[in-house]
Amino acid sequence: MQTIPSESLAIDRKARVNLPFNDLDLRPAHIRTLDFDEVVIKFSAERAMVEASRCIHCPDPAPCMVACPTHNDIPSAMWLIEQGDFCAAAKLYHQTSSLPQICGRVCPHEQLCQGSCVLNKFHTPVLTGELETFAVEHDRCRRGLHIPKGTPTGKRVALIGSGPASLGCADQLVQRGHAVTIFESKPAPGGLLVYGIPNFKLPKDVWFQTWQQFEEAGVKFVPNTYIGKDKTIDDLLSEGFDAVFIGVGSLIDAKMEKTPGTDLPGVYEATDFLIRGNVAPDLLPAEKKEPLRIGKRVAVIGGGDTASDCLRTALRLGAEEVTCLYRRTEKEMPGGHKDRSMAREERAKYRFLTQPVRFIAGEDGRLAAVECLQMELGEPDAKGRRKPVPVEGSNFLVECDTAVLALGYWPDPVIGDTTPDLATHDWGLITASSTTGATSRPGVFSGGDCVTGPDLVVTAMVAGRRAAQAIDEYLKNPQS
Ligand SMILES: Cc1cc2nc3c(=O)[nH]c(=O)nc-3n(C[C@H](O)[C@H](O)[C@H](O)COP(=O)(O)OP(=O)(O)OC[C@H]3O[C@@H](n4cnc5c(N)ncnc54)[C@H](O)[C@@H]3O)c2cc1C
Ligand code: SF4
Repeated sequence: MQTIPSESLAIDRKARVNLPFNDLDLRPAHIRTLDFDEVVIKFSAERAMVEASRCIHCPDPAPCMVACPTHNDIPSAMWLIEQGDFCAAAKLYHQTSSLPQICGRVCPHEQLCQGSCVLNKFHTPVLTGELETFAVEHDRCRRGLHIPKGTPTGKRVALIGSGPASLGCADQLVQRGHAVTIFESKPAPGGLLVYGIPNFKLPKDVWFQTWQQFEEAGVKFVPNTYIGKDKTIDDLLSEGFDAVFIGVGSLIDAKMEKTPGTDLPGVYEATDFLIRGNVAPDLLPAEKKEPLRIGKRVAVIGGGDTASDCLRTALRLGAEEVTCLYRRTEKEMPGGHKDRSMAREERAKYRFLTQPVRFIAGEDGRLAAVECLQMELGEPDAKGRRKPVPVEGSNFLVECDTAVLALGYWPDPVIGDTTPDLATHDWGLITASSTTGATSRPGVFSGGDCVTGPDLVVTAMVAGRRAAQAIDEYLKNPQS
């Protein structure tokens, strides 16, 4: 429900529809590719107030609120920002979101809140994501970030993985007075917020300030501990944890099956490439510390947002020519238009209907070219996307010294394999209720990418928050 009912506002909605729109300010492409700093230039207070005043305050429930997976009270926040009460707006975001300073930056707004804004029918939607970032950052600079701690219950919950799903869960458990310990296989907490999403979209210091807020609320972090290998879920329950939440993501890079040469020096998997390209060496696991050897010509294979992230990372690492190879057309690309258009502005090129079939070594034994086939679109597949079909004899070479495989992600089956009676499906995704996160094992809950497959920061966070509510009910009455 909207905190500030839209019908209580005496505003001229027709006049608001026609207010001029100024798009986001971005750092110029030729400058921003020289570093890994954030691309979007933050709003000033004046600019934020003007942009928020374009909101026409739709009747409750406003479409933007419905489309936001965590149902932020966007219209009320817009009103508070317009009035200059930024801290009150931030407070609203914190009520429904555990990571507003992050979601405001990385959510695909054009598919969520902004995409459903009624102003799309007239001209351009309100820049809701940027306004969320502005309000929360303004508040953080003045008051810091604090998770209000609940009265201690004496119950202990183990969370496995430290990405958005576990963070949403931890936030809500701490507020209910439960003690939270997060076990993480990597050296630093954050999941893909650290070891995935590049700095130019989400600066690491934003994450580390967020993490500090969790530590100050008493969340304990145990790094370098791979549950399923170093210890099991049953070990955690025997150690006295009263419940377990599994938020291990879906992090195994999809392989390019039956394609010779993927093991050549110069061919990288997307995760390896992004981690080593974007993360400071002191946060890298031992096996990732060797610096990347980036060449002059880079080919990125795949069509999702990860492919755009790899293209843009390669440009920042100094590559001169960066090309995306995708087997369908742009229309079928799963990645968002916004990331692609920024990649294009930064000089990335796209070759559609192109399927790599072989990675070829040069005289030095390193990658020198990718042999590709020209494709055409055939009949729709099970998901309704037209299948790419090779054109016989159309083989051609794309010369490159580095190739990055950004083909998608699979779940890691280790948790399912080492936890008796934990139901899994589709190569290791954990079977869990979409409303409570309850799994087939009493006291064991799960959410985020390890349940849904690769999705979004906001949806993983929401799953963790929902599971926390169910864990709280379970802890009060374990027999139910
Ligand atoms: C390159 C890239 C860019 C992306 N960009 C965006 C974006 O711009 N916007 C957006 O909304 N989404 C983006 N996503 C998707 C988003 O990051 C994920 O959907 C989200 O992080 C999922 O959260 P999670 O908590 O489920 O898992 P993760 O963030 O993957 O976290 C899982 C954590 O569990 C740990 N772990 C795994 N197995 C174990 C184990 N057995 N024991 C202990 N720890 C374990 C992992 O090390 C990891 O830290 C991106 C994804 C990628 C790969
Ligand atoms: S969480 Fe994401 S979808 Fe929801 S209001 Fe913020 S940016 Fe929009």
